[in-house]
Amino acid sequence: MIFPFLKTLFLSLRRGPATRRYPRVVRTPFPGTRGHLVNDAGKCIFCGVCARRCPAGALVVTRTPAHWTLDPYRCIVCGYCVEVCPKKSLRMEPWHRRESGGARGQG
Ligand code: SF4
Ligand code: SF4
Repeated sequence: MIFPFLKTLFLSLRRGPATRRYPRVVRTPFPGTRGHLVNDAGKCIFCGVCARRCPAGALVVTRTPAHWTLDPYRCIVCGYCVEVCPKKSLRMEPWHRRESGGARGQG
């Protein structure tokens, strides 16, 4: 009767815990994960295409002064702006944004 329990116990001891010590140990995201949006300011021409196509109204772009802003609380991480940007200055990083606004790195 106790054998199945002992077998499970020894298997668990050998394999180690199934959980991670989050937030110190962060799981590597799966390929294609859409974590948060990043704009390469050096490539952006402030044309506003991304803002006009954004279904959530999360982007505001002005030409003068040249300004690009994202409201991360409105963004639904659909990635449509990345597809329509003519300069390919937008990209999705697989890591989720921290509350402080920075991106979470590996490990
Ligand atoms: S579509 Fe691309 S180039 Fe145009 S404003 Fe948006 S990020 Fe900049
Ligand atoms: S990922 Fe989608 S919701 Fe977020 S800014 Fe781009 S188009 Fe808008």
